[in-house]
Amino acid sequence: MDKHVFWAEKVADEVLKKKRKEYVCEGMWTPSGYFHIGNARSEIFTPYSVFRILKEKGVKARQNLIIDDFDPLDKIPAGIPVKKEDENKFIGVPCKFAPSPFKGFKNWADYFLSQVTDVINQFGFELNIISSYDSYKKGKFNDLIEFSLNHSKEITAVWNKVAGADKPADFLPVVITCEKCGKSLFTKAVAWDGKKVKYECKCGFKGEVSPLNGNAKLHWRVHWAASWIVNNVAFESAGKDHFSKGGSVDVGQAFMTEVFKKEAPYQVPTEFVQLKGAKMSGSVGNVFGLKEWLQVASPELFRFLFFSYRPNSAIDFSLADNSFILLNDRFERAERIYYSEDKAENERTEKKLKESYKLSIIGVPSKTRPVRIPYSFAVQIVQFLNPEKQFAEIVELLKQTKHLVSEKLSKEEKKSLLEQLARAKAWLEKYAPQEFKLFFLETLADEIKGAIDVSARKLLPVIARKLEGINSADELQQAIFEEAKANDVKPKQLFKAIYLVLTGKESGPKAGLLILALGKEKCLQRFKESGE
Ligand SMILES: [Zn+2]
Repeated sequence: MDKHVFWAEKVADEVLKKKRKEYVCEGMWTPSGYFHIGNARSEIFTPYSVFRILKEKGVKARQNLIIDDFDPLDKIPAGIPVKKEDENKFIGVPCKFAPSPFKGFKNWADYFLSQVTDVINQFGFELNIISSYDSYKKGKFNDLIEFSLNHSKEITAVWNKVAGADKPADFLPVVITCEKCGKSLFTKAVAWDGKKVKYECKCGFKGEVSPLNGNAKLHWRVHWAASWIVNNVAFESAGKDHFSKGGSVDVGQAFMTEVFKKEAPYQVPTEFVQLKGAKMSGSVGNVFGLKEWLQVASPELFRFLFFSYRPNSAIDFSLADNSFILLNDRFERAERIYYSEDKAENERTEKKLKESYKLSIIGVPSKTRPVRIPYSFAVQIVQFLNPEKQFAEIVELLKQTKHLVSEKLSKEEKKSLLEQLARAKAWLEKYAPQEFKLFFLETLADEIKGAIDVSARKLLPVIARKLEGINSADELQQAIFEEAKANDVKPKQLFKAIYLVLTGKESGPKAGLLILALGKEKCLQRFKESGE
């Protein structure tokens, strides 16, 4: 059996074989559109996991996020308010120089990058965010540009061999930004004399310019490898689509060994994140990125999600069904296991869950378990109580349900509880499917009564009396269960009866919780009436 509990430990051991003075873990992203959580997985989270383990092992490490803002914009993402007739002002211009689609930002790249930088610190990363354009402008790529132009024949030969491409022998691997129209998508480098590159642009302009200091970018496949050298990268992850045979990873690695004669980084492919219930791209209002995540869930849950899956396993979950609730359940269980309030099915799982929980916490886990309302319960509470106005009642309810044990809440605990409730409320409003929305039926229609198993219905007034003195969710649940068995009624039928008379639905959250959340007195009264 693999001795590594956590996938990143195994990867870190591979990376350490590179024997570097410093281990740079890197991801790369072109700010031409929104940064969705799939990008976060491959460009931030996977490198972060390895970076963190390397640091724990006591070696020098750093994490970079390279912003490829020198790449030209090749299309306008869906939903960005750019008129068809204006597209020409944007298409082909490097992201760094295209105008921002929204007011208040310096340029296109600046707007999309701000969507990441505004919130990234809340996730607990220690990222060095590096602009590719700035690196070119500062001359960090100068040597590699000259070298690549001087070795363009070898580059072309390797490329054609590995990728099965048919680049012409006179291909030059640089992309010049046209001095006349400002675009880089439509230029072609035609000659290199050791000082200057002659180029032609689709706009009709023919020019000659030094390719150094930000006038030109390496073709992206060469740029990728060159960036590994410039930033001394030891580990990198990228979307699995780059890893196909003869794809950009194969080509980049071959450039390193055969042309630049350098060691390529250790690379790991990341699978896609399928997030249903919210569009990963598309119209502006529907993009699900880091900001949107924080509206409905904690940064810790985000970390837990990615720590619990290997990068090569697909994450497929929906914000709009039970899988989101189950993710929260898993996190809450891991937390209880970490604080020895629960046990896993076996030792290895226990170790794994404890480790995943520890890693998902920003900083160091607190000595005692932090106050936590199970997400599924928070979703119920916010439907009946207003967190801002009825906080005292919520605290009372949480004590009854044993979710709160301490007598007095600290300021931080109160803040945390309010945050938890606010997230649940946002989820309920934005994504929750109908079955999570609970309303106490104001009147009990005959057709609902008719849908209930008769013996279960007759038992409801009896239960009402039994439950009067019970105030904890678990005990209520248990009492209902026992009462069903004692009276030869299938517990399933009795619970169904309870859901139906209270909410008009056939199923719901645990009945004990539901009764407390809806208000016990009201519910017991309904049980009494239902038996008639
Ligand atoms: Zn031009």
